[in-house]
Amino acid sequence: MNATFAPERVEEVAHWLRQRPGRVRVVGGGSRQHELPDCDGAARLGLGRLSAIERLDPGDLTCTVLPGLERRELDAALAGHGLELPCLGEGTLGGLFASDPVGPAAHGAGNPRGLLLGCDAVLADGTPFKAGARVVKSVAGFDVHKLLVGSRGTLFVATRLHLRLQARPRAVRWVERDELAIDEALRLCRALRELPAAPDVLALRRSDGGAYAVCARLVGRTRLVDAAATQLALQDREPGAPLPLPSPATGEVVRGLALPSALAGLCGALPARGAFAWLGGGRFEACSPDPTTTDRLLAWCTANGCPATIVAGPASRRGRGTPLDPGEARLAHGLRTALDPDGILA
Ligand SMILES: Cc1cc2nc3c(=O)[nH]c(=O)nc-3n(C[C@H](O)[C@H](O)[C@H](O)COP(=O)(O)OP(=O)(O)OC[C@H]3O[C@@H](n4cnc5c(N)ncnc54)[C@H](O)[C@@H]3O)c2cc1C
Repeated sequence: MNATFAPERVEEVAHWLRQRPGRVRVVGGGSRQHELPDCDGAARLGLGRLSAIERLDPGDLTCTVLPGLERRELDAALAGHGLELPCLGEGTLGGLFASDPVGPAAHGAGNPRGLLLGCDAVLADGTPFKAGARVVKSVAGFDVHKLLVGSRGTLFVATRLHLRLQARPRAVRWVERDELAIDEALRLCRALRELPAAPDVLALRRSDGGAYAVCARLVGRTRLVDAAATQLALQDREPGAPLPLPSPATGEVVRGLALPSALAGLCGALPARGAFAWLGGGRFEACSPDPTTTDRLLAWCTANGCPATIVAGPASRRGRGTPLDPGEARLAHGLRTALDPDGILA
């Protein structure tokens, strides 16, 4: 790959792109670049120096940040005001929103798509544009800025993000129950989802050995949080959700989406052994020992309407998965062609 251009001012991004630098790979913190398709010869647009909180409005529960700002720096600043960005994910804010690694961590919980109020951005040919707004009550029209979420740097470069925040809940407790059989684990997931103050992170995981554990972040009033933990016999645990799974030395990893109604069926279709984790918003990852077992799992996903893809394993197998919806594939292609007709963003 060619040298990195690392602008120090937002305006430099559009100026540099207008000079037609050839193929360009957008880089935030760079933590996941190795998982993206090869882009040999592309110049790197490194956004790490565009790092600042430009505006923090605790009264409106909104802020504006530059894309290279690290999530942990924003979290530290927000904590001082009793606020938080209610979604999981790390790295730079630009990278986190462009890759949307885990989606909602529980049914109805915050996620990058819902938290992005607007952005300033630059098209591949250097044309700057603004979309959405910096306030919660927005204007009519297409939410063009939401195209950033999941675009992984292939549609446009976000140079400024307007984000929705929330007040930190009065009580927060990370809890867990482990060494469960699958039926007990599914019952516990259901009980947690039915709590009057449902957790904002809910996760089910299976260890290599086959035992299940359920983990959650309980939030709300201290009395209710403590009562729920006692009633469901939950133990305190370290903060943190179990996705992503650590990459296994051998075999493959399938990543997909399964709604709670499909969870029992999915668990029944998993390889007999190997790690598995599911988040309450639907994302899951499952390790598989060999291609035959993976293909069996993908066949179940296809038959049951759960989109899934191989994300780790031999290069020849990565990216295979359940069939894409032809209409969606056509739209995605159309968007790329409209926003980046020369295929500059790699
Ligand atoms: C392929 C892939 C797989 C991932 N898998 C997981 C996972 O399993 N679990 C997990 O927790 N997290 C995952 N993540 C997210 C990752 O852990 C980070 O949270 C996230 O990538 C931000 O880190 P970063 O700043 O290093 O971003 P980078 O790795 O530098 O960039 C991430 C993506 O965002 C694009 N991008 C960065 N900044 C901008 C911008 N300003 N405008 C437009 N596009 C931009 C890049 O081109 C790249 O595609 C994944 C990310 C990617 C790209």
